Amino acid sequence: MKIAQNTVVTVNYKLSDAQNNLIEDGAQPMVYLHGGYENTLPKIEEELDGKDVGYASTLQIEPEDAFGDYDPNLLKVEERNRLPEPIEVGMQFEGMAEGGDDEPVIFTVTEVADDKVVLDGNHPLAGMALRFELSVIDVRAATEEEIAHGHVHGAHGHDHGDAPEDSEEGDHFRSQPLQ
Ligand SMILES: [Zn+2]
Repeated sequence: MKIAQNTVVTVNYKLSDAQNNLIEDGAQPMVYLHGGYENTLPKIEEELDGKDVGYASTLQIEPEDAFGDYDPNLLKVEERNRLPEPIEVGMQFEGMAEGGDDEPVIFTVTEVADDKVVLDGNHPLAGMALRFELSVIDVRAATEEEIAHGHVHGAHGHDHGDAPEDSEEGDHFRSQPLQ
């Protein structure tokens, strides 16, 4: 079956930066609903559209087509006593960017000092060119429910469990903090 609108695609991947430093070894394959549901980067969908199981490719994606340029305005220093304890590097908080619009931003703690904490609202992969080694291992038709929800269910897919329906990061390209 070829990759097309409303197919569920399973891809083994390895993610490196443009200098070939490994970022994620893709121990778990990426599984996504194809067809502009923003489950993965548009450039990846573009590359895989019309392809079949066994297709393999290395794709370099520039920051503007991945997680954007690094924005120094999203870096902020907070008084430590304004944040919950214990606090450590890598923790994430939702907050508002100063002078930004009303979109909440996920801030990652990047430095902790005695009385100050540095928070970075950039995506961990912002400003980086990304190199994906992709290998398609499965393609199947999506179920009606998956199409209605706009994401994959089942193994490796979206688990409805008792977590609330995640609106933003849920099934995007795996983008957990890279610790
Ligand atoms: Zn769902």
